[in-house]
Amino acid sequence: MLMHPSAPLSREEAAHLLRRYGITPTHQRLEIAHALFSRRQHLSADQILAAVNLRHSETSKATVYNTLKLFLEKGLVREVIVDPTKVFYDPNTEPHHHFYNLANGELIDIDAGDMQVTGLPAAPDGMVAERVDIIIRIRPEDTAEATAPSCRARTVACLDSAPSPSRVPKDNLG
Ligand SMILES: [Zn+2]
Repeated sequence: MLMHPSAPLSREEAAHLLRRYGITPTHQRLEIAHALFSRRQHLSADQILAAVNLRHSETSKATVYNTLKLFLEKGLVREVIVDPTKVFYDPNTEPHHHFYNLANGELIDIDAGDMQVTGLPAAPDGMVAERVDIIIRIRPEDTAEATAPSCRARTVACLDSAPSPSRVPKDNLG
């Protein structure tokens, strides 16, 4: 279980968090954890790089990517793939879904308990569904035609979780 601190993480808290996930807290890992967990936002790798370099300008993009990969492997963060060009890192690893605001590119958490998913197809032989991630793409009502032509008038939310087939994770059944 992750804590949800509302105040910025201290260096000690960040180090403690990393150690709890079996990650050795190096300077740059601490900076990246700080960027992700202080405001508990969904951030892209570029946004994380920018946040880290605001404080210390020596971190490379490769370091950020390698560190995020490690955080993912250790279960410290989760990846939210809106489409292949929009990948976000999520400090909230509890089961939940997302609204994705097409107008401003922002992800908003939807508590798993606030949404029921029914009628899932049976998994292929020998497979089980591990997780269902649903992304509900939303837009301001008055930009209907401009941003989401396939999403007709009546609903604000357009249930569309069909990213490019090449990047569909095997557990993305939404
Ligand atoms: Zn989230």
